[in-house]
Amino acid sequence: MSEDNMEAEHRRKCIKRLKRCIILMLTAAVVLPLAVSACVLAEVYSLRKTLEDVSAQVDRLSEVTAGQQDALEQLTEKVQTVEQNLSEQQTEKTPDATVPVGNINVRDPRENEEVTAAHKVYLTFDDGPSIYTREILDILAEYDVKATFFVLGKESEDSKEMLKSIADEGHTIGMHSYTHNYSEIYASVDSFAADLDKIRNYIYDTTGVWSNIYRFPGGSSNKVSKLSMDTFARYLDEQGIVFFDWNSSSGDGGSIVFPADMLVENSMKGIQKRETTVILMHDSAGKKTTVEALPILLENILALEDTVILPITENTKPVQHINWSSDTEEQQTEERMED
Ligand code: ZN
Repeated sequence: MSEDNMEAEHRRKCIKRLKRCIILMLTAAVVLPLAVSACVLAEVYSLRKTLEDVSAQVDRLSEVTAGQQDALEQLTEKVQTVEQNLSEQQTEKTPDATVPVGNINVRDPRENEEVTAAHKVYLTFDDGPSIYTREILDILAEYDVKATFFVLGKESEDSKEMLKSIADEGHTIGMHSYTHNYSEIYASVDSFAADLDKIRNYIYDTTGVWSNIYRFPGGSSNKVSKLSMDTFARYLDEQGIVFFDWNSSSGDGGSIVFPADMLVENSMKGIQKRETTVILMHDSAGKKTTVEALPILLENILALEDTVILPITENTKPVQHINWSSDTEEQQTEERMED
C-alpha cells in the first residue's frame, strides 16, 4: 500500500470515530434529559395522587369531627335539661321535709291508677321479724318486688334493724299486734286498744313510719275472740286503720312444716281468677320452707300474664273475711226502726 493510501485510510478511520463520538454525544444530550424529565414527571404525578388522597381524608375527618361536635352539643343540652329537672324536683320536695311522717308508710309509684293489670298480687308476711327476714328481703330485692310485713313488737336489736330495713327497702309495714297473745288482745276493746297503741308507737319510734294497716292475729274470722270481731273492726276504722285478711294461704301457718313446692302450689291457686289476691305467708322462726318457696313463687307469679306484685297501701282494695259495718249496732237498730 502506498503512503497516500495509508494516510487516506487513517483519515477515514478518524472521521468514522469522530462521527461515532458526535452521534453518542447527541444521543446523550437528547435521551438523558428526556429520561430525567420522565422520571420527574412520574414522581410529580404520584405526589399529586398522594396529595389528593390526603386531602380527601382530611375532608372526611373534618366531616366526622363536625358530626361528633353536633352529638356533643346535643348531649350537653340533654345534660342541662336533666340537671334543670332535678333541681326543680328538689325545690318541689324541700317543703315536704317539714311535713310530719304521714298516715301511710309506703307510696309505691306503681300503686295508683296507672296500675291497670288485671291481676294484682300482694305478698304478706306475718309474725316477723325473725332470723329469716333478711333473707326474704334479699330475695324480694333480687326480683325487684315490694311486699307487706305485718310485724309484732319484738324489741331485740336485730328485730329493730330488720324493721328499719323493711321500711328503708320500700316495703309496707303493717301491724299484727304487739304481743300476738289472743286472750289478752281480744279480752276487751280497752285491751285491744292498749296493744294497738303499743305496736303502732313501737313501729313509729323504730322506723318513723306511722302505720295505718293492721292484720288481726288469727285473722278477722278467728274463733278465739269472745267479743264480736266487728267491734274491733269498728275500733280500727275509728283510728283510721284498714285491716287486711287474705284470700290465698301458702299453708305455712300451722305447726306442720310443708315443703316449698307445696307452699308455692297453695299460693298460686286462683290468682288468675281474681282481681286482687292477698297471699298469707310467715317470716317467723321455723318457717324455712317459706324462704325456699319465695323465689319459685315470685318466678311463677311474674311469669303470669297481666299480673303485678304490689305492696299494700291505703289505696289497696281490702280483703276482709267478715262483713262489718262502720255504724254501731245502736245506729243500725235505729235505721232499721226508721225503715
Ligand atoms: Zn300471726
